[in-house]
Amino acid sequence: MITFEKKEDVAPVCPYCKKELSKVWFRHLKGDLGKRCIYFCPECKSCLGVSHRKGIAPFGL
Ligand SMILES: [Zn+2]
Repeated sequence: MITFEKKEDVAPVCPYCKKELSKVWFRHLKGDLGKRCIYFCPECKSCLGVSHRKGIAPFGL
C-alpha cells in the first residue's frame, strides 16, 4: 500500500531534464475526445502528461 503525503516544500523534478519544476506549462487539445490539456516542462518542453478528463485536471487526477 502506498499512501499520499502532502509535500509543499519539495519541488517535483522533470523526468527528462532533471530540473526542478516551479511551474508547469499546458496547452489545450481539441479533438473527438473532447477538450484535454497537455502539460509540459517549461525548461525542455518535454510532455509530462495529458489530462484524461474534460477541463483542467492535471496528470489524470
Ligand atoms: Zn524538463
